[in-house]
Amino acid sequence: MNLEVREGVNLQPYNTFGLAATARWFAELHDDQQALEAARFTRQQGLSLHVLGGGSNVLLTEDVQGLVVKVSSRGLRVLSDDGERVVLEAEAGELWQDVVNYALQLGLAGLENLSLIPGTVGAAPIQNIGAYGVELQEVFAGLTALDWHNSHIRDFSPEDCAFGYRDSRFKHESGRWLVLRVRLVVWHTPNIRLEYGLISQRLAQLGISTPTPQDVSQVICAIRNEKLPDPRVLGNAGSFFKNPVISAAQAAALRQQYPEMASYPQPDGQVKVAAAWLIDQAGWKGFREGDAGVHRLQALVLVNHGQATGLQILQLARRIQADIAGRFGITLEMEPVLF
Ligand code: FAD
Ligand code: NAP
Repeated sequence: MNLEVREGVNLQPYNTFGLAATARWFAELHDDQQALEAARFTRQQGLSLHVLGGGSNVLLTEDVQGLVVKVSSRGLRVLSDDGERVVLEAEAGELWQDVVNYALQLGLAGLENLSLIPGTVGAAPIQNIGAYGVELQEVFAGLTALDWHNSHIRDFSPEDCAFGYRDSRFKHESGRWLVLRVRLVVWHTPNIRLEYGLISQRLAQLGISTPTPQDVSQVICAIRNEKLPDPRVLGNAGSFFKNPVISAAQAAALRQQYPEMASYPQPDGQVKVAAAWLIDQAGWKGFREGDAGVHRLQALVLVNHGQATGLQILQLARRIQADIAGRFGITLEMEPVLF
């Protein structure tokens, strides 16, 4: 299929905040050939590249002058299976949740804690998606990406990706790499991970003492559906801030003042603090100015009540950051990518 490049496209349907912004140029990519054509087009026209998957981790603050590509490639397969370890490969435009379900239906374990994270497979490595104690990097075997600068297609090993907490090299090299497909390792024998308290609590309530990956997935889906606003109803991009990691000394000093502060020691001796607790403590939960707000149940989630602009959401985020820095001496880092 030939590449169709459209001019002046409203991006409102393409981001889960529901923010209006116009892409000067826009194209949907279904395969490698169209991606190569789009790369040629931007080089010929001297345009910048902006990649969209499901738009569930972006904040659009202004019109985009370059080419926005929406990745819509499909395909999901088993690459290898040695009886224990299975490698799956998914095209970048596949929905992450469809891959989780595919693995579960084949009786394969490893993705269950990452159930119901919105968005596409191609975006999963960008911020090394994580939830309930598991990060993408633990199930990641490799990916194939197109270098937008020279149209070379290359494979990345896990080490090449420089994964960190909600971070990877790709988050710092935006506009260069287009992820085409991702490979994941899943297992015939489950290694059930229940360290996030609420999962085992819920399983116990259901009378499940030896949970299967399907049980864990179902419980997580239920918790997420209760706790998180549905972007189709209330625009949002999930957690707006990363949980800050601070020194043990700073955490100890804060705990003296706030003994109930939620914090989690890290393997390197530092301490992760729940950003939602900080924001709630500072009184922002449920705050609303115009249509930009903080969700009334989940302080980490900024929301668009209808007609907010990306700049209004950004201004609110900056006010929260300044307040938290003033009160606790902690810098909150934004998680979504600014367009
Ligand atoms: P987009 O928002 O479209 O893009 C995000 C970034 O990735 C952008 O920089 C974009 O340019 C880049 N990108 C996208 N596709 C490609 C590609 N093929 N090649 C190169 N770059 C690409 N995140 C978590 O980690 N854990 C959670 O538990 C979680 N829960 C969420 C809950 C809700 C309700 C919402 C709305 C969001 C949540 N998120 C969570 C954030 C989001 O779902 C993830 O970051 C997801 O991976 C984004 O996927 P996407 O396809 O929507 O990416
Ligand atoms: P929660 O269970 O209420 O916990 C609050 C925070 O404390 C979490 O963000 C989590 O950090 C941390 N935490 C809780 N138990 C922990 C443990 N045993 N060890 C280490 N850290 C612990 O969180 P929630 O808001 O309902 O979210 C549940 C999971 O889904 C979390 O992992 C969260 O990151 C993920 N999630 C992410 C997004 C997003 O957009 N990024 C949106 C919704 C949910 P971590 O965040 O570091 O895990």
